[in-house]
Amino acid sequence: MNLYEEVNKRKTFAIISHPDAGKTTLTEKLLLYGNLIRSAGTVKGKKSGKFATSDWMEIEKQRGISVTSSVMNFPYRGYHINILDTPGHEDFSEDTYRTLTAVDSVVMIIDSTKGIEAQTIKLFKVCRMRGIPIFTFINKLDREGKETLELLEEIEEVLDIETCPMNWPIGMGKRFLGVFDRNKQELVKFNGNEEETYIPKEELELDETLMSNSTYLEAMDEFALVEEAGNRFSLEDVLQGKQTPVFFGSALAPFGVQTFFDNFIAMAPAPGGRKTTEGVISPDNPDFSGFIFKIQANMNPAHRDRVAFLRVCSGKFERGMDVKLARTNKQIKLSQSQQFVASSRGTVEEAFAGDIIGIYDPNIYRIGDTLITGKDKFEYNELPQFPPELFKKVTAKNVMKSKQFKKGIEQLVQEGAIQLFRQHRTESYILGAVGELQYEVFQYRMQNEYHVDVMFETIGERIPRWLNPEQKVDPSLFDERNMLVTDREEQPLVLFKNDFSLNWFKDKNPTIELIDLFEVN
Ligand code: GDP
Repeated sequence: MNLYEEVNKRKTFAIISHPDAGKTTLTEKLLLYGNLIRSAGTVKGKKSGKFATSDWMEIEKQRGISVTSSVMNFPYRGYHINILDTPGHEDFSEDTYRTLTAVDSVVMIIDSTKGIEAQTIKLFKVCRMRGIPIFTFINKLDREGKETLELLEEIEEVLDIETCPMNWPIGMGKRFLGVFDRNKQELVKFNGNEEETYIPKEELELDETLMSNSTYLEAMDEFALVEEAGNRFSLEDVLQGKQTPVFFGSALAPFGVQTFFDNFIAMAPAPGGRKTTEGVISPDNPDFSGFIFKIQANMNPAHRDRVAFLRVCSGKFERGMDVKLARTNKQIKLSQSQQFVASSRGTVEEAFAGDIIGIYDPNIYRIGDTLITGKDKFEYNELPQFPPELFKKVTAKNVMKSKQFKKGIEQLVQEGAIQLFRQHRTESYILGAVGELQYEVFQYRMQNEYHVDVMFETIGERIPRWLNPEQKVDPSLFDERNMLVTDREEQPLVLFKNDFSLNWFKDKNPTIELIDLFEVN
């Protein structure tokens, strides 16, 4: 098989959702279709110890959670599927955002009983900022949830993206009859635990029970309106992230999952060209290249080794190959490589654009690093800086340790474990993170690698807005409530106490430019 064919077999995506929307349940079903697991219910085995074979960080063991964004890959109908996990809840961190820089599309799961939830919004914003195509699966139709039109409206309004329903649910909860498939113009009937059945449109009109079923009639009336006046499906818009195809179903039943997956696979883009300092590099460029989007430190505390997660972007990866680290021009032999199947690690011999591999990191890589072969030298575009939300002042418990403290902070910040800010005038160290876990990892690593105990003083959730450095802004406008700080690049920003403070400030100071990182990258 040539390079072009290999690349076009790849579908690399992440599933984003708010905790409990059904990500694990859906993932399990996909793995089942891929014959990767024999029975559903094993992915969450993390807690029951089924996957506790790897010695990830101590924190992970203590909390029974996965710190890593694990990668699952399996063959499906001639395709090579790569699913990247996006941890949520307590293990939500900047890594969750960074994972999204390594995928080509995203599946967004929405719980029909809840609608759009907080974490979905955050992850969605990253997809929007990266122009990643988004496919929506509205889950839990077997339960009483929000009305179909209400859900679609919510997506359009809250997320500001056009929706195009690919199927239409008939009832919900106890009255759930199935979905009407827009493409095939047939009813996919929900039969509880039995297999779904398919009834073509012509036959539906002859079915007397259906023709006197008000749930069915109402849903079909509604759907007729949507077909008449709703958004037209446009694959082009989908691929540009302007429209999201919406599917309805139940991950648990399962109902509509395989149809969703087949349609998704057909529409989702294969790996495309990626921007570098020397222009776009095509995925079937014969020279191997890729970038590191995540570094997992201390997977084995005894050896203090690290694994760097690399997204292959072009050419062919072969174990043991020599590559160049573009940042330093250093030659490296990639002898230890791992591909991740759920949480068990297997050695990978070869990989192509779209694949994710874990490579041994003898402490030389940084997040965003490019690895290349061939004559041309280039680097993939820097990973964006993501806006943190949780802020804490940090100090060393023992002032005598301030040298190690500074060294530790600098290295961990450079590695991308956490973001560092300095308060205007006081110069206090302020750490910014996307989730609480980053503080735990930071504290743990400061202790174990730099032998410094750190103390935190909580500042809490803040809304960061960068100032335009060209614009002169009076520092006396800010205080502890709306805190003026600088980031690592000495760029000024304000940590607003809440939405109210932000809006109040905007009203009072309409000429001051306030930049939301989600909007600019
Ligand atoms: P995650 O946190 O997004 O990974 O969510 P899970 O997959 O763990 O699901 C959360 C809960 O919702 C579990 O109790 C699931 O059994 C349940 N669940 C998932 N999908 C469905 C569904 O389609 N219908 C119903 N009734 N429950 C579901």
